[in-house]
Amino acid sequence: MSDMKRLANLMKELEDQLTVCMKCGMCQSVCPLFEQTGREADVARGKLALLDGLGREMFDDPKGVSERLSRCLLCGSCAANCPSGVNVLEIFMKARAILAGYMGLSPVKRAVLRGMLSHPGFFDRVTEWGSKFQDVFTKPVNDMVGTSCARYMSPLIGDRHFRPLAKTPFHKILPEKNTEPGASGIKAAFFVGCLLDKLFPNVAEAAVKVLDHHGVGVFMPSGQACCGIPAVSSGDAKTFEKLVRHNLERFGDGSYDYLITACATCTATIKEVWPMLIRDADIRDHVKALADKTLDINQFLVRNFKISPAMPGPGHDAAVVTYHDPCHLKKSLGVSAEPRALIQANPAYELKEMAEADWCCGLGGSFNLQYYETSARIGRKKRDNIRAIDPAVVATGCPACMIQISDMLSRAGDRIAVKHPVEIYAESLYLS
Ligand code: SF4
Ligand code: SF4
Repeated sequence: MSDMKRLANLMKELEDQLTVCMKCGMCQSVCPLFEQTGREADVARGKLALLDGLGREMFDDPKGVSERLSRCLLCGSCAANCPSGVNVLEIFMKARAILAGYMGLSPVKRAVLRGMLSHPGFFDRVTEWGSKFQDVFTKPVNDMVGTSCARYMSPLIGDRHFRPLAKTPFHKILPEKNTEPGASGIKAAFFVGCLLDKLFPNVAEAAVKVLDHHGVGVFMPSGQACCGIPAVSSGDAKTFEKLVRHNLERFGDGSYDYLITACATCTATIKEVWPMLIRDADIRDHVKALADKTLDINQFLVRNFKISPAMPGPGHDAAVVTYHDPCHLKKSLGVSAEPRALIQANPAYELKEMAEADWCCGLGGSFNLQYYETSARIGRKKRDNIRAIDPAVVATGCPACMIQISDMLSRAGDRIAVKHPVEIYAESLYLS
């Protein structure tokens, strides 16, 4: 489909979808950005009003429209609470694609998305190289959280505390896997995702361990690409489609029962964003079939196996753990009980709920890069709610949330470990 035709179609769809908003303003009370800024322009209703005249606004002030649209975490809190069922995320993604199609991508985004992310092998090599040399520019800062900070003043990193690139990415630890179903009779494809591969290979290792333990046959093809969410969020429909096509080739015709991921964002992207935005007739059915098979790993495990709560044995103190609900897991996919069930299956932990466990952590992907101070203000609220529980561990089912929570805890000097529920569950399988 030509770019012009694609844009015209998107514009038409957008116009139709915008009429659903009845301007009630109920999205205000749930928007983490609005809570911080109080600006109508930052909440869904304000952005939808802007998009109502997108064609005209785009000619008058394209930069202003782009700036207002980029001020959004794409957390989906507004959509999850909208009485009219406005599909806010779909509208925002389409609008970003229209704007990027009209204005073009910035040189930085073009370099990152088209120069690196859309070439998975090259992206792997760049990050492998980065992990070798990162110690020259960064230093460890909190061993419990596992964060580093910049060694010298850096405009890129600022005063962030970040999770460094893993010394050995997961694609080097386990490049591929294809095993037959064991006792479970189930075969699952495992989509690793960039963050698990490059920052949290321990979580990917735990996921594979758990699948092996339950006798699940695992199909994990080599050379997997990003799920495409950074491209979609930047309006780069071309890179998004390229990444989807690459992954479709890798994962083949779907001769497995499920496609599972341990990243809430990857799951929501494959399950919801791929079928929403991919229109090309040659791959539409393949995308839909894969989306239908896609499940978050917590959901997959609880749905297929008996995962029972466990109590600590006499004389054993359980470590307190609290759980943060990733927006992409709870608001997009309705998954919240399952990760808690995995945590509660480990007798070494006691789960205590924090206040507002499902309030966004404030990361929002590129939002954090563009508007770090606002992102951190939202994140500090999450940190305060975690701190109030005084846990040894905070768990969450999305590696992106793990990054933001790690930054907030580490900058506050907290010594609280950040884990994925599947890590906690994997530990329980190997308790003596
Ligand atoms: S997006 Fe939904 S909640 Fe927000 S103003 Fe429109 S109808 Fe109301
Ligand atoms: S997606 Fe999140 S940040 Fe964006 S308008 Fe909706 S609630 Fe606010």
